[in-house]
Amino acid sequence: MKFLDQAKIFLKSGDGGSGCVSFRREKFIEFGGPDGGNGGRGGHVIFEAVANLNTLIDFRYQQHFKAKTGGHGMGRDRSGKSAPDILIKVPIGTQILDEDKETVLADMMTPGQKVVLCRGGDGGQGNANFKTSTNQAPRKSTPGWPGEERWVWLRLKLIADAGLVGLPNAGKSTFLAAVTHARPKIADYPFTTLHPNLGVAQVGDEEFVLADVPGLIEGAHEGHGIGDRFLGHIERCGVLLHLVDGTEEDVAGAYRTVRGELDAYGQGLVGKRELVALNKCDALSADQVSERQAALAAACGHPVHVISAVSGRGVKAVLGLLMDAVHAARAQAEEAENPAKDWQP
Ligand code: GDP
Ligand code: MG
Repeated sequence: MKFLDQAKIFLKSGDGGSGCVSFRREKFIEFGGPDGGNGGRGGHVIFEAVANLNTLIDFRYQQHFKAKTGGHGMGRDRSGKSAPDILIKVPIGTQILDEDKETVLADMMTPGQKVVLCRGGDGGQGNANFKTSTNQAPRKSTPGWPGEERWVWLRLKLIADAGLVGLPNAGKSTFLAAVTHARPKIADYPFTTLHPNLGVAQVGDEEFVLADVPGLIEGAHEGHGIGDRFLGHIERCGVLLHLVDGTEEDVAGAYRTVRGELDAYGQGLVGKRELVALNKCDALSADQVSERQAALAAACGHPVHVISAVSGRGVKAVLGLLMDAVHAARAQAEEAENPAKDWQP
């Protein structure tokens, strides 16, 4: 199963500006001759791959991109201005496909890579260009060339930065819904249109992709649970958030069950950075919280965060820690891909 993000957008480059018909008119100068300038070029539509984007979410809110028409030529041999180009920023890894959804028009693979998908039309010629020995006063000019327009599909394979694990009912879906609510614009984005188990969490002005691994139950690694299909997806996560249902008596046991699962699955899952959170603290007394927090901390060997996905308590703090861990994991992945070149023996 793939987490795919896609969007269909309309592009149009600008038409060229028209050429101008004009004659020089000045006192004391007879037969001033043609001086109509050329039209300017219409704006191109250009795609650029940038490093700090993760999803195609922005294209859900803007689907039409139209560059402006070039300026028209004017008298006194003034050319029209070229219209500004439109620069559309897409995450690295975005594929641009034709409307048929098959023909690949461009693969945006490296940061800073730019591709002109629709060229702006050239400007038309003003009458100054049509002056000949036999026609000293041409009244001819040409209109600008039209821009290009097309629909394209953008497609991006999403890579989850962080994974949510925990027994069924631990509150994974609730947590996922809660953290993406922080950005109302995208509130129903992953849940209804893309994939029920993927969310984009917003921390400050950054975002990361969070994948819920539902129904991770005993035996999932043998293909019994539906969680198994998703386990493959958290293989590439930089960090796991392990949620434990605080209303369960045996929180340590719940934790160990899931860890056993991850261990049995292999693929380095147990070795990943892990944050552990005791969820549903809103339904617990203070004593229960401290008792279960301590039991869980003893089982996992690191600090346990107390949260409530429903009331929101502690959620922001955990999100911030996840973002930090995602940063660390991204930096590590980058380092592994491009080891420092200036190493000297
Ligand atoms: P999942 O199976 O891990 O995805 O768990 P869900 O998100 O579906 O939650 C299971 C149940 O626990 C639901 O009835 C939720 O309303 C409830 N739940 C989740 N988080 C909390 C919480 O922080 N407090 C309380 N009281 N209930 C919660
Ligand atoms: Mg769920």
